[in-house]
Formats: sequence, C-alpha cells, structure tokens
Amino acid sequence: MSRFLNARYQPLQAYVPGEQPRDAGWVKLNTNESPYAPAEGVVRAAAEAAAGLNLYSDPTCALLRDALAERYGVKRENICAVNGSDEALNFAFMAFGGRGAVFPDITYGFYPVFCQLHGIPFREIPLKADFSIDPAEYFGVNGLVVIANPNAPTGMALPVAEIERILRGNPDGVVLVDEAYVDFGGESCMPLVEKYENLLVVRTFSKSRSLAGARLGFAVGQKALIDDLEKLRYSTNPYNINSMTLAAGRAALMQDDYYMENCAKIAATREATRDALTALGFDVLPSQGNFLFAAHGCMPGEAVNQALRKRRVLVRHFAKERIAGYNRITIGTPQQMRTLVEALRDIVSEGENP
Ligand SMILES: *Cc1c(COP(=O)(O)O)cnc(C)c1O
Repeated sequence: MSRFLNARYQPLQAYVPGEQPRDAGWVKLNTNESPYAPAEGVVRAAAEAAAGLNLYSDPTCALLRDALAERYGVKRENICAVNGSDEALNFAFMAFGGRGAVFPDITYGFYPVFCQLHGIPFREIPLKADFSIDPAEYFGVNGLVVIANPNAPTGMALPVAEIERILRGNPDGVVLVDEAYVDFGGESCMPLVEKYENLLVVRTFSKSRSLAGARLGFAVGQKALIDDLEKLRYSTNPYNINSMTLAAGRAALMQDDYYMENCAKIAATREATRDALTALGFDVLPSQGNFLFAAHGCMPGEAVNQALRKRRVLVRHFAKERIAGYNRITIGTPQQMRTLVEALRDIVSEGENP
C-alpha cells in the first residue's frame, strides 16, 4: 500500500476471484464458466464490430436492450446493461444501500466487498442448518436486501413465491435478486417486476450464455429504479460495454435455444455427478446452479481441494468456517466430470487407507 491511498480504502479487503491458469492441461471447474463455446455467429459478430473500434460504443446500448426486452417481455426502459453483472451489483449497492444492506452469511463473496467499498453497514443473516433461506428473517429490514437465487455457493434455490414474501415484507427497501444461475433450473422473478417497485433482478451472460470473458450483464426493474442505476452508470463510465461485447450479446440472444439446450445438458450432467459424488460418500447439497457444493465427512475441504489440484483439477474452496468442509465444483462436460469423479475416487480411497 502506498502512503497516498485514500484513508477510506486502506482497510478495504478486495474480492479475490478464482484462479485463471494460463497454461493448458487443467480441468477447470473453479469459476462456474460454461464448458461450451459461444453460439454460431457470436464470435463473428464480435469480430465484425471490432472493425469499428475507432468509434465509441453506443452509450445507450439500445440494440442490445431492445433484444433483451423482447426476450424477457419488458421494455427498453426496464433494462440497464452493464459490464458483467458485478457492475450492476456495484451500482445497486451505491444506489440503494443508503440505509444498510442485508444478505445471507453464506452467499456471493462480493456483496460484503461492495458494502465496504461504499461504506454501507451490512448484516449477514445465517442460513438455516440445511443451508436454506428463511424468508421471514428478511422482513422489516427496510434497507437493501440481496438474495442470490439460486444461491452461491450452495446452489439452493428459493421459490418465487418466497421471494414475493420478502418483497412484501420489505416495502421500503430494494430487494435485489441476483439470478446469475437461474437458467440452470431456478425460477425467475422477472415476471414480478411489473408488480413490485422495489424489485431489481440482476442477470449475467457469463454462466449460461458462455460469455464470461466478454463481460456482459443486465439489471431489470421498474423505470424509476433503472433510471437510478443509469445515473450512476453515466457518472462512472457511459461507454461501460465495448462494441464487440454489445454485438456478441445481441448475436447470443438470436441463438438463445442453443444456450437453453446447453443449460439443460449441464443440469443433467449435474444430477449424474451428484449421484456419483454421493456414492463416493460426499454430502452434496441439492443444486439448481451449474455447480455442486460437496463435502466429505472424512476430509477437510482444503485437503480435497489440494489433492484435486495435484491431479490438475481446479475446484473452489472458501476459507469460511461454516463451509470449510465443502468445495464448489463447476459442472463441466460429461468427460470433465468423469475425470473429476475418478480423481475423487482415488483421493477418498487414499484418505481412507493411507
Ligand atoms: C458469477 C456471479 C456473478 C458475476 O457475474 P459477472 O456477470 O461475470 O460479473 C454475480 N453474481 C453471482 C452470484 C455470481 O455467481
């Protein structure tokens, strides 16, 4: 740290992203990317847009927002397009965190970082013993409520009717529902946007639409909420999405069937993998995401993580006491999951017969 850093950022503990190794030969199951390539035409659209890189990108993101509006049955004014959904989260914490924020104790690790960044007081509400969310604990908060649904890293989903109870129980605060994983089996609360002025839904192209490297996300809400986000977006970086990503996103939406089929494939691979891990003695939470959260009673999570790494398989372990036994395992191709399961079979049998 230099002696010049603003005192307010000195205690800030930055978010630590999962590792992105640059050498080949890893089975990479640590950051919930899609194992499948972008759809036909997406890379071409980005390359064509690259020919116009001398010009700024469209600050209104009009064509992309219109395509999203059509896909999701809302209007352009209901959509804020962002450089990865992390950016929408950042704007939302800035915009709506004025009276503090609450979220579960086990959830996306970026939420507390945004609170620290913007000086937002926050409270973490413990998940129940089975890692589920009790909606009633979020009633009467009257600040920003943030729920990842399905939750990460557990993968567990809350029915929309339960989210609706939180919306009604917190009428004077925004309820942000982070739907990064909803395409893999969760239920979206996008249809509730019309009904609730305090609902903000955040989505990403990184997981279900194979565009993690392009950085594209969006937020959906009533016009007044979106105008607030836009105010912050125009005060931060009006050209937040580059021209290539805008074009890639539109091309992706034109091939949406391809992505939804991939999501169904990933969900099927997930269930088969869950059975295989359970057979090896793992406790695996029920997941509606593109990942599993699994613990083995006989081995600490960190030991499993290191043993997999020795076998060139990367999964994610979180240094948080309550989940220290677990690893979050991204669902890859069936072939990648066979490699994972075989590696874990070795690791477990070595652990039991050292
Ligand atoms: C991956 C993830 C994000 C971030 O997605 P980007 O669009 O790549 O920034 C947001 N929320 C949750 C819960 C995630 O898992």
